[in-house]
Amino acid sequence: MDKYGLIGDPITHSKSPRMQMAAIKSAKLNATYQLLNDHGEKLSAIMARLRKSNVAGFNVTTPFKQTIIPFLDELDVTAAKIQAVNTVKNVDGKLIGFSTDGSGFWQSVPEIEKLINVAIIGAGGAAKAIIGAAPLTVNIQVFNRESPAFDEHKAQLAALFGLELQPLSQLLTQLESVDLLINATSVGLHDNVSVLSEADFELLKANALVIDLVYRHAQTRFLEYARKTEHQTMSGLPMLVMQGAHSFKIWHDKIADIKSMELYL
Ligand code: NDP
Repeated sequence: MDKYGLIGDPITHSKSPRMQMAAIKSAKLNATYQLLNDHGEKLSAIMARLRKSNVAGFNVTTPFKQTIIPFLDELDVTAAKIQAVNTVKNVDGKLIGFSTDGSGFWQSVPEIEKLINVAIIGAGGAAKAIIGAAPLTVNIQVFNRESPAFDEHKAQLAALFGLELQPLSQLLTQLESVDLLINATSVGLHDNVSVLSEADFELLKANALVIDLVYRHAQTRFLEYARKTEHQTMSGLPMLVMQGAHSFKIWHDKIADIKSMELYL
C-alpha cells in the first residue's frame, strides 16, 4: 500500500487526512494518508524517517513550508519561484517539492475573468503562493501591517515578483477600485477578530468579492463585516479543497473526486 500524509506542527486539527482518504477511496487506490509527525519533532528527524520509510508523497504545512527546501532533491518551477513547498512527491527515491496553494486558490475563485484589481492583505507564505500563481489578467497590490517584518516582506516581494509592498494604512484609499479583496493574514485564525474594521468595508467597491483564507471557520469576522456591506464572500475552504485536489493529481496522476472531499470540510 502506498503511504501518503501530512507534516507540520500543529497538524492534529487538519482536514487533509479525511479529505485525501475520501478521494483515495473514491478512486479505489491502494493508498493511505495519515499524519506523519508528532508535535515538537524536528524537521531533520521527520525527513530522515520519511526517506527511510520510502513515503510515496506528503503535504507540508506551517512551519515547514520554507524550511523543508534543503531536505528536498528538486523543486518544480512554481515552488522554486515562491521558495515554498506544500506538496512532496517521491519519484524513484528523489523527493520533489511542489506548491499547489496558489493554483488551488485561483481555481477556487468564481468568475475570475471579471476580477482585475486584486488587493492582498498579508505578505507571508500564502500571499506569495497566490501572487506566484496569479493569472496575467490581474493587477495585484499587496499590503502588510508596519511590523518588524515589513522590510523583509518588502524586499522579498520586490525580488520574487517585482511588486512593491505597501503599508496596510494605504489600502483604505484604494478600496473603491478593488474587485477582489483577500485576507491572507493569520488574523481570525485563532480569535474572532478582523484585520479591517466594519467601517472599512463601506469604502470597498460595491460588487467586490471578499475572500478570507482562514478555513478553520467558514464564518470569520472579516467575512461577517463584508456581508454586512452586501459584498460577495468566500471562505478559505474552497482553496483548501482545490490545493488538496492538485496535490492528489501530482501524486496519483488522477483527477480527485472534489465532491467526496468536500463532505469532510
Ligand atoms: P505566514 O505566517 O507566512 O504569514 C502571516 C501573515 O499575516 C503575515 O503577512 C503577517 O504579517 C500577517 N499578520 C499576522 N498577524 C497580524 C496582525 N495581527 N495584523 C496584521 N497582519 C498580521 O502565514 P501563511 O501566509 O502561511 O498563512 C496565512 C493565512 O492563510 C493563515 O490563516 C492560514 O491558515 C491561511 N491559509 C489558508 C490556506 C487554505 O487552503 N485556505 C492555505 C494556506 C494558508 P507580519 O509578518 O507583519 O506579522
